[in-house]
Amino acid sequence: MKVFITGGAGFIGSHLAEALLKQNHHIYVMDDLSTGSIENIEHLKAYPNFHYIIESIMNYSLLCEWIDRSDVVYHLAAAVGVRLIVDSPVRTIETNIRGTEKVLDAANMKGKKVILASTSEVYGKNNKIPFKEDDDMVLGPTTRSRWSYACSKAIDEFLALAYWHEKKLPVVIVRLFNTVGPRQTGRYGMVIPRFVQQALAGEALTVYGDGSQSRSFCDVEDVTKALIDLSLQDKAVGEVFNIGSQEEISIQKLAERVIRLSGSSSKVEFVPYEKAYAQGFEDMHARVPDISKVKKIIQFEPKISLDGILKRVIEYFKSKV
Ligand code: UDP
Repeated sequence: MKVFITGGAGFIGSHLAEALLKQNHHIYVMDDLSTGSIENIEHLKAYPNFHYIIESIMNYSLLCEWIDRSDVVYHLAAAVGVRLIVDSPVRTIETNIRGTEKVLDAANMKGKKVILASTSEVYGKNNKIPFKEDDDMVLGPTTRSRWSYACSKAIDEFLALAYWHEKKLPVVIVRLFNTVGPRQTGRYGMVIPRFVQQALAGEALTVYGDGSQSRSFCDVEDVTKALIDLSLQDKAVGEVFNIGSQEEISIQKLAERVIRLSGSSSKVEFVPYEKAYAQGFEDMHARVPDISKVKKIIQFEPKISLDGILKRVIEYFKSKV
């Protein structure tokens, strides 16, 4: 297959490209390196089937050209990370909405299937555990910029589903829950790379709030396998799927586990949300996916445990110093 990946030099995109290259597919990556990096794809350049272009998906004529060359499109290019969203709300909204409009429009013109990466953030502060795909979105007010991310990705989902219903463009929507692994950067707020780097540097691990909020983390290898398997299933078209792990942990316990597994002597420091982000910042208390829908279609089962994930990330950062 010829596979086009927007955001292919990002954390998830580069792992997806690698997994597909190992299956001998031809890979075309478009990335403007806004949050991705050349370092992420450096090792992929050795594959003769790997092609990339450093360009924004806003370049519509080039986007059409590359989509035309491909059989399937993975749309992963987006502004992500709570830090980035809070600091750059204009960029978040414009990249996520305009970018997806262009990708769907071009894919529709060329008749190519689209796998759209969305996010568990769309469930917002709904208190339900676990989240099912047809649960309500419960978002905060527009004066809290965090929610612009969930809104922008929800519009992306609406638009993709509208293309399917109105124009029969085959689309598959994946709501990724917290995805982690080697090459993820802590620069945009993601907690595991931040904690691991702090632990290895002997600095205090910055737990935001009281640390009782919880997340469930899934390894990027399990996630990319699910993305590939779903793209091959006709029954997945026009559907939304949660993808993530159900192994829940509080952020305080996560900090303690990172300290233990990395053999660090770091301490835990509690940082109020308004100091970490902005006045009135709202966090989700818990976020666990119901994965029964995706399991039915592709027998999805995360293989790498949280300890396994943390060990991989610790090794990755150790190898970088
Ligand atoms: N978090 C933290 N310290 C950090 C970075 C994040 O305590 O240095 C917390 C954050 O407030 C949230 C959780 O860790 O409750 C997961 O944050 P992340 O940004 O990785 O993902 P998301 O909030 O999108 O689930």
